[in-house]
Amino acid sequence: MSKLSKGDIPMPDCLSCGRPIPPDDSGSSVFGCPKCGEVKIFRCSSCREFVNPYECPKCGFEGP
Ligand SMILES: [Zn+2]
Ligand SMILES: [Zn+2]
Repeated sequence: MSKLSKGDIPMPDCLSCGRPIPPDDSGSSVFGCPKCGEVKIFRCSSCREFVNPYECPKCGFEGP
């Protein structure tokens, strides 16, 4: 039995900078890859603000 501690919310990693996105990062966004649609793209608020590029790990699509 694995035990889950309270408030142990899995944090997705930002695909641009690789840092975990805290749940209270209200400017972050998540969307399906525009090309393959199979990968969820997570971006933190600062990467959105600075329009940092990302690359889909599955199909290699580069955005924004
Ligand atoms: Zn980021
Ligand atoms: Zn893709």
